[in-house]
Amino acid sequence: MKNARAYKTGTMRSMFGPGPDGEICKSCAYLICHERNRRWYKCRAYGTSSRESTDWGCTWPACGLFTYDESVPLPKGFVPVIESSKHAPRPKEREPQLPGQIDMEELMKGCEDDA
Ligand code: SF4
Repeated sequence: MKNARAYKTGTMRSMFGPGPDGEICKSCAYLICHERNRRWYKCRAYGTSSRESTDWGCTWPACGLFTYDESVPLPKGFVPVIESSKHAPRPKEREPQLPGQIDMEELMKGCEDDA
């Protein structure tokens, strides 16, 4: 969960900047709490789903979208981060090799064969 926290808070803070000093997501109006057998949180700006991958930590550091005001909607046309990442361009296909270029995969395979 620590890596997930670093990834999610890092993503939010890199996209929207850091929140007010000392503020945590628990005080943000965009954090929603679900309660059944246990309590769990989701950030509406990051995106919500029934999956654990969108669970949020209420003690995580706030991002620049932070607001106390529950009447403030997300900016008009705002697309939750996980939705926008679905439509992000895929990483480029592997580029063709230049003549004489060392192929790292072949090199590594050769090392494994030698071992
Ligand atoms: S929008 Fe609110 S709940 Fe979501 S990461 Fe930013 S401060 Fe936390």
